[in-house]
Amino acid sequence: MRALVFDAYGAQPVVRHVPEPAPAEHGAVVRVEATGLCRSDWHAWAGHDRTIALPHVPGHELAGAVEAVGSTVTGWQPGDRVTVPFVCACGSCAQCLSGNHQVCERQTQPGFTGWGSFAELVALDHADVNLVGLPDDMAAATAAGLGCRVATAHRAVVAQGRVAPGEWVAVHGCGGVGLSAVMVAVACGARVVAVDVSTAALGLARDFGAEVTVDATTEGVVPAVRAATGGGAHLSLDALGSAETCGASIRSLRTRGRHVQVGLLPPDLGHPAIPMSRVIAHELVLVGSHGMPSHDYPGLLAMVTSGRLPADRLVTRRIPLDEAGPALVSMGEPGFPAGVTVIEPQATGPA
Ligand SMILES: [Zn+2]
Ligand SMILES: [Zn+2]
Repeated sequence: MRALVFDAYGAQPVVRHVPEPAPAEHGAVVRVEATGLCRSDWHAWAGHDRTIALPHVPGHELAGAVEAVGSTVTGWQPGDRVTVPFVCACGSCAQCLSGNHQVCERQTQPGFTGWGSFAELVALDHADVNLVGLPDDMAAATAAGLGCRVATAHRAVVAQGRVAPGEWVAVHGCGGVGLSAVMVAVACGARVVAVDVSTAALGLARDFGAEVTVDATTEGVVPAVRAATGGGAHLSLDALGSAETCGASIRSLRTRGRHVQVGLLPPDLGHPAIPMSRVIAHELVLVGSHGMPSHDYPGLLAMVTSGRLPADRLVTRRIPLDEAGPALVSMGEPGFPAGVTVIEPQATGPA
C-alpha cells in the first residue's frame, strides 16, 4: 500500500510503498477515506516526542471502511463505515472499567504508538471497544474530524469544561480544535470570544458563531477578553498549547473560572509558567482534557447530524496523499491555511 513515511525527525516525509497491515486478533484494518492533518502530527514529525519509533507513518484522525477484522472481533465486519477516537483503549484496565477510556492505562494511538492513517490502510486495536459507526450520509472528510479535533473539543467544553448556556467561553488558538470548540460552545448556548494571530482563522471563528474576536498580534489578549466578557470568561480553553496561550487563558478567567488545557505542551518545548497565586486567590479550576471515549460519541454524532454542530464547515482544504508531506511540513510555518486540511489517501492511484 502507499503511505506517507518519514525516516528521521524533521526529515522530508515521502510517499512510498510499504507492507499492508494485518489486524491483531482484537483489532481491525480500516481503508482510510479521509484523514485530517492535526498539529500533533506536526509535533510528532518535528521530534517533540522522541518515543516515536522510526521510520514512521503519521495520522490519527480518520474515517473509512472496515477492510478486515481479527478473529475475536464480533461487532464489526468488512464494509462498515467507521471512525475511531485517537486514544484506542484496551477496554479492561482500571480506567476503562470506570468509563475513562480516554486515559486508558494501556492505550495505543495510531500515528504515535504505531503507524497511522496517512496511508491507504491503518490497523486499529480493540475494535469492539473503540470503533464508532458512522451515519450513512456523513461525508468521510467530516467524519475524520470526529476522531480527534471535534471529539477533543466536545469533551473539553462539555464534560471537562462543564459549559452552561449564557456563559462566556474564551478560546485561545483557532486551529482545528479551537474552531471546533467555538462550534461546540455555540451549540451549547454559550457566548464565545475567539483569540488567534490569524485574521483568516478569526474570520472562520466569527462565521462559526464567535461574538467577539481578539487579534493577538495587535491587542493585549487578557484585557481584551476581560473587557469583552464583563470581567473575565467563565470557561477558557488553551486550544493551541504554548506558554503564551496557556498563561493568557488562565489570566483571562473571572473569579472561580475554569481553564481547560487542550493544546499539547510537549516537555521538550519547556514548561509554561502557571500563575498559581492567581489560581489560589480567585479559586480558579485547571483541568486537562484528552480525547473522548467511544461511548460518548452518540451525543456528539447527534449534535453533528442535527446540524447544531456543522463539522463539515471546518474542512477548508482536501488534498491527495501525494500532497500530504509538504502540507505536514508547512504546518509549523506562517501562512498555513486556516481551517482543517483533510488528506484523501484513496484519491490517488498506485504510483
Ligand atoms: Zn489530533
Ligand atoms: Zn484501558
